[in-house]
Amino acid sequence: MTQTLPARVSIREVGPRDGLQHEDVILSADQKVALINSLSATGLRLIEVGSFVRAQHVPQMADTAEVFARITRAAGATYSAIVPNTTGARRALDAGVDAVQVFLSTSESHNQSNVHMSIAESLDQAADVAALVRAADKPFDAVLSTVFGCPFEGDVPLDRILMVATRLADLGADQITLGDTTGMGHPRMVQQVALAFREQLPRTPIRLHPHSARGAGLANVLAALEVGVDRFDASVGGIGGCPFAPGAPGNICSEDLVHMLHEMGIATDIRLPALIACARNLELLLGHEVPGQTIKAGICGHLGASGEPRV
Ligand code: ZN
Repeated sequence: MTQTLPARVSIREVGPRDGLQHEDVILSADQKVALINSLSATGLRLIEVGSFVRAQHVPQMADTAEVFARITRAAGATYSAIVPNTTGARRALDAGVDAVQVFLSTSESHNQSNVHMSIAESLDQAADVAALVRAADKPFDAVLSTVFGCPFEGDVPLDRILMVATRLADLGADQITLGDTTGMGHPRMVQQVALAFREQLPRTPIRLHPHSARGAGLANVLAALEVGVDRFDASVGGIGGCPFAPGAPGNICSEDLVHMLHEMGIATDIRLPALIACARNLELLLGHEVPGQTIKAGICGHLGASGEPRV
């Protein structure tokens, strides 16, 4: 490996939102609060707590405001929520979020299916969300879905992705998250998109939100690191899924990502054994094994002479 990789990366934990919303088991507010508090105790400083969307669409997130009211906030940590529109943004701000992420898709058909708006209507909503969030003196960032492929339309033109992102950057987005919603991204595409963003929007940081539906999640992280991306989303245990590919894995697994980065000498400030303990507890809560691999194989640095994991 000849490239200079980032010495430190920022990981946003999205399991409580992106992970849990694809699970059949709906956790109670108590269980979510305990999960988020234990995630805070690992050193994670960015946690996506939930979403403010219509409860009938995503019943797993119906109690997000209650969860926000009851979590213990670690010093220096940011607890965020995603919203599709101004109604969600008002509810989020009322609930005391630290940051708001407005989400929309870069493909018309996926945006209609997901938030029942055209991209233009979502951008109008984003402008109003940005105004509300700025007035509340909170950070605002944008999460773009289907950047690396749409389940209905296939490839999404890079010009359209950059057009949407530029509108959001003009609205004052602090960062833009590139979502591989369907796990259709591959390393070469990740680098092409990241480099195009750097050229078009050099002052707006990007965050990669990989999904591993086709197994390319950590390869895509490495590809992104090689072109200087140092912000990633991941989900504890690798929980979640893909609504367009039943049974496929969801987000990349936080503890697998942290393990790989630490072995590479890249800092995260996250305590890996504590994160693995969170994943173990999550298995009990959900009643099934999580897809993560480090939870099964153990931490390399903890392997004894016998080769037995000592996690
Ligand atoms: Zn996702």
